[in-house]
Amino acid sequence: MSYAFDLGRKVAIVTGANTGIGQGIALALAQAGASVVAVGRSSMDETRELIAPTKVPFRAVAADLSSLEPIEKILDAAEDLGRVDILVNNAGIIRRADAIDFTEQDWDDVMSLNLKTTFFFCQAAARRMLKDGQGGKIINIASLLSFQGGIRVPSYTASKSGVAGLTKLLANEWAAKGINVNAIAPGYIVTNNTEALRQDEKRSAEILSRIPAGRWGRAEDIGGAAVFLSSQAANYIHGTVLPVDGGWLAR
Ligand code: NAD
Repeated sequence: MSYAFDLGRKVAIVTGANTGIGQGIALALAQAGASVVAVGRSSMDETRELIAPTKVPFRAVAADLSSLEPIEKILDAAEDLGRVDILVNNAGIIRRADAIDFTEQDWDDVMSLNLKTTFFFCQAAARRMLKDGQGGKIINIASLLSFQGGIRVPSYTASKSGVAGLTKLLANEWAAKGINVNAIAPGYIVTNNTEALRQDEKRSAEILSRIPAGRWGRAEDIGGAAVFLSSQAANYIHGTVLPVDGGWLAR
């Protein structure tokens, strides 16, 4: 019997893989044996170097996911490495301003990438996964703000609450067809996304003081959950939003 978490011979697409959580997930999937298609709008050199020692096939695809236009092109490029088995919708942005001042631009930009692109990437990948009946694994990156309200991030909260709902809807439609759709909700992780928060001494201290684990998370903390949800060990898991948050939501 093969090891339940082995991803050998699987092909995984990870969006926003040049840095942060996406890079951590791409590396973890590669370490578990998956071929990695790393999608992003910035240089993928650092991710390529990190993954090189694993010796898995690696492909970088340059794409701006603020529109839907590149999605089919990415899937075509990914198929050069083989059938796409795993999709991780990680690319995401955040805009901070008081709700009273929040602009339409900050609403549209965040909703477009975090929610609209996530849905249509799921749809496009699933159409291919369903064609040969072999199914697949889709992992969306949610947030603690899929469960909580947050503060000064209205479009981000709306988008990530949407990602949680969408994950459940897609699981309901595709579970019987062999596609597992799940989400990971990272806690407070040290990446570009949280730089402004970490620079705000008061907010940073407040956040740290309520994390039971006593530290902010790191990108590599998310990788194991992604490997699990991508593997056959998760074959009966559908529509879950898995917090990886140092215990934040337990508090
Ligand atoms: P990050 O800013 O370091 O990474 C975001 C990634 O998305 C980058 O690779 C970036 O290049 C990519 N991206 C942004 N806009 C893009 C576009 N238009 N086209 C293609 N790629 C684009 O931040 P991160 O924390 O690593 O964020 C990754 C995901 O994790 C996001 O969905 C974010 O909302 C989510 N998340 C982060 C935290 C946290 O504490 N850092 C917590 C919960 C959820």
